[in-house]
Formats: sequence, structure tokens, C-alpha cells
Amino acid sequence: MDVQYDLIIVGAGPAGMTAAIYGSRAGLKVAMLEKEAPGGKMIKTDLICNYPGDDEINGADLSMKMFTHTSGLGADYLYGNITGIEFEGDVRVVKTDDGSSYRSLAVIVATGSVERTLGFPEDDLLLGKGLSYCAVCDGAFFKQKEVLVIGGGNSALEEALYLTQFASNVKLVIRRDVFRGDLINQEQVLKHPKIEVIRNHVPDHYLVSDDNRLEGVAFYNKDEDKIVEIKADGLFPYIGQDPATEFLGGLDILNEEKYIKVNDKMETGISGLYAAGDVVVKDLRQIVTAASDGSIAAQEAFYYIQALKSKES
Ligand code: NAP
Repeated sequence: MDVQYDLIIVGAGPAGMTAAIYGSRAGLKVAMLEKEAPGGKMIKTDLICNYPGDDEINGADLSMKMFTHTSGLGADYLYGNITGIEFEGDVRVVKTDDGSSYRSLAVIVATGSVERTLGFPEDDLLLGKGLSYCAVCDGAFFKQKEVLVIGGGNSALEEALYLTQFASNVKLVIRRDVFRGDLINQEQVLKHPKIEVIRNHVPDHYLVSDDNRLEGVAFYNKDEDKIVEIKADGLFPYIGQDPATEFLGGLDILNEEKYIKVNDKMETGISGLYAAGDVVVKDLRQIVTAASDGSIAAQEAFYYIQALKSKES
């Protein structure tokens, strides 16, 4: 069969990199396709405190350790942004936005998720002008400044804590009166002297200066039934993620929220197409569950590829 790889893994986060390790160790010719640096969301995380074996590890360090592991085993790293997957008999063709095509016998989709925006008209305009979705990347720009974090999940709680090392104060705004994140994170936030938690405030619109910089956010205060303005130099919305599955458009493998449906073998229902990590329908989105998915997907892809090759010979 006319292919460059046995297995192409789309996305080099913890799911994709673990799949690359298992696939390579099984003797497959493996490539990972990634549009950014390897690591996925890990690389934008300051401290990871729940990955077994390390009670505390920097996200960029863990990303680099995983990447070094994959390349040491011979997995190729392809830089590109996937636009679609085509099917030519037993061959899977991965297309990218620079016009490249990569042919393989199996594909694992491990593209993770993208940050949700507030959906206000100035979402793009204010990016880098006070608005950021990455505290680890941009937190240092806000030394002794006032910042707002929106959201009550683990990401918002952890990043609010991270930002306290730079900002003069952090206002963490949640739209209900309860958090969604873990108790351990809640406790740390609530006792931190630099963090003020503001509850029952729903974002309404951005406050924008004449020179198009963020000046704060207006919220609907549910308790007082009125709009209030909260001024800030920086804003970090951490309001959840959406799955990165747009390129799968026509394939009938997504649920209503556009996550990929898989069985316990990480099979999508289309032969030779697997999925792993945050992009699949699941309850617990963690590095360790992504890694678990990646190992299963690669092992199942290995059995599938072996069967295809023995059919050919
Ligand atoms: P999340 O758990 O879905 O939390 C999103 C938060 O944003 C919720 O508090 C939600 O409020 C709020 N929100 C959503 N839309 C909003 C809007 N338009 N305006 C204001 N607030 C809005 O998202 P996440 O924190 O990004 O976490 C995603 C997944 O990754 C979770 O499973 C999480 O546990 C996991 N994660 C784990 C860790 C860790 O274990 N250390 C770290 C990071 C992430 P409501 O609660 O009112 O819906």
C-alpha cells in the first residue's frame, strides 16, 4: 500500500505523545502532526500536581520530557494544521492547510480542545491588548497590575493562583455562587490574600478604551439586578473549552457537543480511525486519562495495522 506512515497521530498533547510512544515501541512507523509546540494544554500550564511520579512538575518540562521520549523512539514530528481526513480504500489521507497530504494506514485524532471565548464583538480586537487566554504565557506582562479571571473551574482557579505572583490583585469572577473546580483549588483561592472572589456576576460586555485596549468588564450582578463595571488592566477568561473537531465536519462520529464518540478501544466506528484525550466524549479530562486513551488507541491501531498488512502479504 502506498503510504508514508503506518500511523499518523493528529495532535501532540499527552494523548498524542503517549500514542506515539506506544505505536513506536510496537514497531510502527509513526508521525505526529501538530500545529503548535508539542505539549498541548500542558505547555500553557504552570504547575502540574497530579501526574503520578511527580508531586509537582512544570507543564513545559513535562511536555519536553514526553516529546524527547517520542523522538528518542523514532516518531516523526510534522508541523501542520489538519483540514480533513480522506479515505482511499484502506489508506487514510491527512490533509493540512498548506496543501500537504500524508498517507497512513491508521489515524489517531488527539486534537484536544480550544479555549472558549466570551463571545463579545471585541474578542479578537482585544487579544494581546489586555485580553489573554494563557496566564503562563502573558502573566508577567501584568506585574503590579490588576487582573480579572472569569470562570470557576479548575483552570480559572489554578490560573488565578498563578497570576498572584505578578498582579497586585486578582479578582476571580464566577457567574454562580459556587465553583466547579476541585475543593483543594477552591480552598487555596479562598484563603489567598491577593484574590477576591466575586460571585453571581455574569459577563455582559468588555470595557474598551479609545485606543482599543481592554479597560475592564461589565457584569450583570444577579444579586442586585444591575450592570456593574469592574476595571482591570488584564483579563483571563477560563470558561471552558470546545473540542477541536471542525476538520471532521462530514464524518458521523461526533456527539451533539462535537466531541468524538469512541468505544472502550478508542475506535470511532470508522475503520482505522481512532481518537484519544480531551477530544473524546468522557467525564474526566486529565493528563493521565489522556495518556491512558493514547496508549489504548495506539495498541488497537497496532492490531488493526497488523491485520491489514497480513491481509496484503
Ligand atoms: P470547566 O470545568 O468547564 O469550567 C468552566 C467554568 O467557566 C465554569 O465555572 C463555568 O460556570 C464558567 N463559564 C462558562 N461559560 C461562562 C460564561 N460565558 N461566562 C462566565 N462563566 C462561564 O472548564 P475548565 O476549568 O477549563 O476545565 C476543563 C476540564 O479540564 C475540566 O474537566 C477540569 O476539571 C479539567 N482540568 C483539570 C485540572 C486539574 O485537575 N488540575 C486543571 C485544569 C482543567 P458554571 O460552573 O456556572 O457553568
